[in-house]
Amino acid sequence: MLPENGTYTLSNLRLHRSHLDNIEGFDFDTEGFSMAAIEIADGAIRAIHAAGTKPVDTFAVDCRGGIAYPAFVDCHTHIDKGHIWARKPNPDGSFPGALSAVGDDRKARWTAEDVDRRMEFSLACAYAHGTRALRTHLDSVPPQEDISWPVFDTVRQRWQGRVELQAACLFGIDEARNESWFNRLAQTVARHRGILGAVTYMVPDLDTLLDRMFAKAIELGLDLDFHADETDDVNAVSLDRIADAALRHGFEGKVLVGHCCSLARQPDDMVKATLDKVARANLSVVSLPMCNMYLQDRRADATTPRWRGVTLLHEMAARGINVCVASDNTRDPFYAYGDLDVLEVYREATRILHFDHPVGNWPATVTANPAQAMRLDGAGRLAIGAKADLVLFRGRSLTELLSRPESNRTVIRDGKAIESTLPDYSDLDDLMEP
Ligand SMILES: [Zn+2]
Repeated sequence: MLPENGTYTLSNLRLHRSHLDNIEGFDFDTEGFSMAAIEIADGAIRAIHAAGTKPVDTFAVDCRGGIAYPAFVDCHTHIDKGHIWARKPNPDGSFPGALSAVGDDRKARWTAEDVDRRMEFSLACAYAHGTRALRTHLDSVPPQEDISWPVFDTVRQRWQGRVELQAACLFGIDEARNESWFNRLAQTVARHRGILGAVTYMVPDLDTLLDRMFAKAIELGLDLDFHADETDDVNAVSLDRIADAALRHGFEGKVLVGHCCSLARQPDDMVKATLDKVARANLSVVSLPMCNMYLQDRRADATTPRWRGVTLLHEMAARGINVCVASDNTRDPFYAYGDLDVLEVYREATRILHFDHPVGNWPATVTANPAQAMRLDGAGRLAIGAKADLVLFRGRSLTELLSRPESNRTVIRDGKAIESTLPDYSDLDDLMEP
């Protein structure tokens, strides 16, 4: 569909205002979309025109009014866990069930080859769906850190230029009590240009352990990434403690905090105090709507879930907090489904979190906002001079975009349409034998 010489104009498409650097001259509808044309040359965006303002002089491709997004940025995933469901399902769909199933599978099966091949499969999916950058967590409890980090390095090199990869280490924060082990892990992370991450729990020495992590991040120049309060327990307030620690240390790096589910269960005055602090501490927050819906409020006694599991993104956005949504787990005991399709994440987020009526700046939660949290300059926006990395959809409005899977979308990278065939599940069959 696109001309071979790489110089052409995508005409008659719709762009969202939250994806544009310069909105002058555009005529946005109530959802924030405007007709536009994008000139592409040498793999980059040469110009962006509001429809009708400039005659099209290069080869024009008619996009029929379809919406285009910048290529996606998926800032919270677990591609080291991905696609193990067939050999290790979650017995009851609960959070403890997920934790123990993954732990057993990791100890028994996560060789370098196993991790490499499942990561490869995950990235092929993400790339085909239109993702250009992705952060994964890597389970980093002994001896897995010495297996997964070198594999990640190899995989990152293999995918360079297609999916820009970042990794954050993952372990329960109580493990950081073992200071010599923690120092060694932090060195491993730094050596691989990674991010220092942990799961916070309300352990009595949480503040001390957070201090240890922030001090180490400052010492080694690392950003931080936490899994926090993935529970309905109102006493889980580690988001507040992380904000305290960031302020206490005057932390100038980036901090991304995922989940924060319990916040949605807490009294209003408590929520307000926490969020004011989170804004002051300049934390970014990512919600994982599909996993949260799956794991939270799952009841053992055959009753129906009564809350959605997601955190308070509207209240955060209103305070200027940088908010994102992302994939989280795919086809593993934490989430039985998923394909690293960020459009699916956005579709489900729209339904679960009410990213509509008005649409506002919510499209940025899968593009510019995660790019900011991940320090990816130029990603997640459509700007003159930026790489021509975008996804063209058939849908011309939000209701058309989000009502069908858009399996026939066109992914453009460096100005060229990519081959976007998904890998076949049977590719992993030999890894799934019991
Ligand atoms: Zn996660």
